[in-house]
Amino acid sequence: MVSRLSDLIWPPRSLLSEAFVDRPGVIEPALWGELKFLTSPLCSCCGFPLPEATAPEVLCAACAASRPAYDSARGALAYDDHARRLVLDLKRGGRRDGLPVFARWMAAAAGEALEHADFLAPAPMHWTRLAARSFNQAAWLAQALSQASGKPWKPGALARVKRRRSQAGLSATERRRNVGGAIKARGRFAGQVALVVDDVFTTGATLEACARALRKAGAAEVHAVTLARVVRPTDILI
Ligand SMILES: [Zn+2]
Repeated sequence: MVSRLSDLIWPPRSLLSEAFVDRPGVIEPALWGELKFLTSPLCSCCGFPLPEATAPEVLCAACAASRPAYDSARGALAYDDHARRLVLDLKRGGRRDGLPVFARWMAAAAGEALEHADFLAPAPMHWTRLAARSFNQAAWLAQALSQASGKPWKPGALARVKRRRSQAGLSATERRRNVGGAIKARGRFAGQVALVVDDVFTTGATLEACARALRKAGAAEVHAVTLARVVRPTDILI
């Protein structure tokens, strides 16, 4: 009701531009076609796009060399300028009207990992950061995905016990060091299948730490899904 009333005063804007649209949380057709959804062939573990599918289960060179702690990670969109705008509007601007559509994209990207999941766990934010920002965008995404899929979400399953430096501008190795040991699971998840939800897969360091923590707490499988995924190394500085 409140949103309908406000729509009469300020018609809803596209998620990707200043264009007016007929309802909140949509993208005008001209820009819709520019979104880069990540589709197969993908590395069966980390979801990195592969040039060709040589077998149903193929690993990228990085996962073949060193298998991540998570069983699989999938991103809905390649992290380009459009995805960046969606992520920053969500995380810095607190814009929520895109959540239902993001949840549908993430459900499609996660596929079987979502079907088999016992629960969804948002990637955690340290309480001091949470206090400063007042919301955790990963929790919003997990809640939206829970509503779209009917899977329960556990906002307190993972906690950040050490405040880390911001990951922005850090290399892959620095990110792993920065996040290592900083995430703990709260509770026991013996034999359960967890799906970790986050906004962006950059180097995978955060998801790696989440997966290690959930495995330590007994989880049988840990999968992950993000709204966007960095694909080219040059995109890593965010
Ligand atoms: Zn991989």
